[in-house]
Amino acid sequence: MPDVDVLVVGAGPAGSVAAWHAKQAAPELDVVLLERDRAVGAPVRCAEGVGDAGLREFANPDGADWTSRRISSVIFQAPDDTEVVLADCGLGWILDRTRFDAHLAAQAAATGVEVLVGAEATSMTRNGDVVRPICPPGNRL
Ligand SMILES: Cc1cc2nc3c(=O)[nH]c(=O)nc-3n(C[C@H](O)[C@H](O)[C@H](O)COP(=O)(O)OP(=O)(O)OC[C@H]3O[C@@H](n4cnc5c(N)ncnc54)[C@H](O)[C@@H]3O)c2cc1C
Repeated sequence: MPDVDVLVVGAGPAGSVAAWHAKQAAPELDVVLLERDRAVGAPVRCAEGVGDAGLREFANPDGADWTSRRISSVIFQAPDDTEVVLADCGLGWILDRTRFDAHLAAQAAATGVEVLVGAEATSMTRNGDVVRPICPPGNRL
């Protein structure tokens, strides 16, 4: 792997957003995002229920194809049948994680991040300030 300025391991939501924001903040830096799976978003890793406000910090869900449905009410039910009902206030969304993760990685790529799939970082070496991952070359998204 060639030398890069910023290397992010794992193209889940955290990795894609981190890489995307790093590139946005400093376009002159080379940013590479490694994903071990052959496709971003598969296999699915749950986390399909998310709050509206937090989601909107990173992505606009209105009309997006990566949402499955809107959450309009939430009831927590304890084993003793105690229920806590959250107020109706446009609470959140059920995501389609396969599409959502792919959307965020595509956003990162559109910003100029090099996204490599099939690239598992299995180890790393350090030489002074230079840290190098050990991983197969992978394929560009
Ligand atoms: C059963 C279950 C239900 C959940 N339900 C919810 C929910 O309803 N709402 C909610 O908000 N959260 C939920 N979560 C939590 C949610 O799944 C995680 O918080 C979220 O996926 C974390 O995102 P992430 O980007 O940090 O990591 P991940 O989504 O785990 O992504 C990490 C990525 O890194 C890749 N990777 C890992 N190691 C390497 C490596 N060495 N080299 C290259 N790539 C690598 C992986 O393949 C993966 O794509 C749930 C979790 C579980 C297990």
